[in-house]
Amino acid sequence: MTDLGARLSAIDEQIADAARLAGRGADEITRIVVTKFHPASLVRELHGLGVREVGENRQQELSAKSVELSELDDLRWHFIGQAQTNKASAIRRSAQVVHSIDRDRLADALHRAAEDDTVLDVLVQVNLTDDVGRGGVAPDAAAALAEHVMTLPSLRLRGVMAVAPLDEEPASAFARLRGVADGIRALDPSATWISAGMTGDFVEAIQAGATHLRIGSAITGPRPDRG
Ligand SMILES: *Cc1c(COP(=O)(O)O)cnc(C)c1O
Repeated sequence: MTDLGARLSAIDEQIADAARLAGRGADEITRIVVTKFHPASLVRELHGLGVREVGENRQQELSAKSVELSELDDLRWHFIGQAQTNKASAIRRSAQVVHSIDRDRLADALHRAAEDDTVLDVLVQVNLTDDVGRGGVAPDAAAALAEHVMTLPSLRLRGVMAVAPLDEEPASAFARLRGVADGIRALDPSATWISAGMTGDFVEAIQAGATHLRIGSAITGPRPDRG
C-alpha cells in the first residue's frame, strides 16, 4: 500500500474507534479530505483510493483543481474557506457544498449566482473565538443568518461549521457549537450537519456530534509551503 493509502486507512480506523466510543455509527460520519496547497495529482490519487469528498479553502485553487479533474465527476468539492462575494459565481460553479456562510451578503451572492435550478448545500460557519477577524458569525447571530439562508430557494441549509479556537479545549468549544447546531435544527429539522474536527481534534468533534470531519495533514502529509 502507498503511504497515502496507509494514512487514509489509519485515520478511518481512528474515526471508527472514536465513533464506537461515542456510541455512534461510523456511517453517520463523512470524512472530507482537505487537499489545499496540494496538487491536483494528489486529489486524483485520493480518488483512486476511494475518496469522493474533498475540501479546499481558496476559490482559485478550488476552481483550478475542479477543472483539471472534471472527468472525475463523482468527486464532491467542499468549499471551506472565507469567501468574497465577488467570487460567489466561481465558487458555485465548482463546489457542491459551501461550509463557510458567514453573512447575509455572501448567502445572497451565492443565491444570485445560481445558473439553473440546482440547489447548493450550505452551512453556517460559527466563530467560536472572541476574535471577529476569524471566519464565521458570532454564535448568538447564527440563527438569524440561518433564517436568512432558509429564504433563498437555490440554497439548502444543511447545518453548521466551525474551527476550534487555538486557546481552548476543543471539547468545550465543540459543545458550544453543538448548542448552536441544536438551535438551528429547531428552525429547520433537515439542517442536521455539524462540520467540525480537523487533524488535531477530530476525536473530540466526533464526541460532540460532528457529522462531517475536515481532515488535511494527517492524511495528505505536511502541506507544501505557501509562504
Ligand atoms: C486546512 C483546514 C482544515 C484541515 O486542517 P488539518 O489540520 O490539516 O487537518 C480543516 N478546516 C479548515 C477550515 C481548514 O482551512
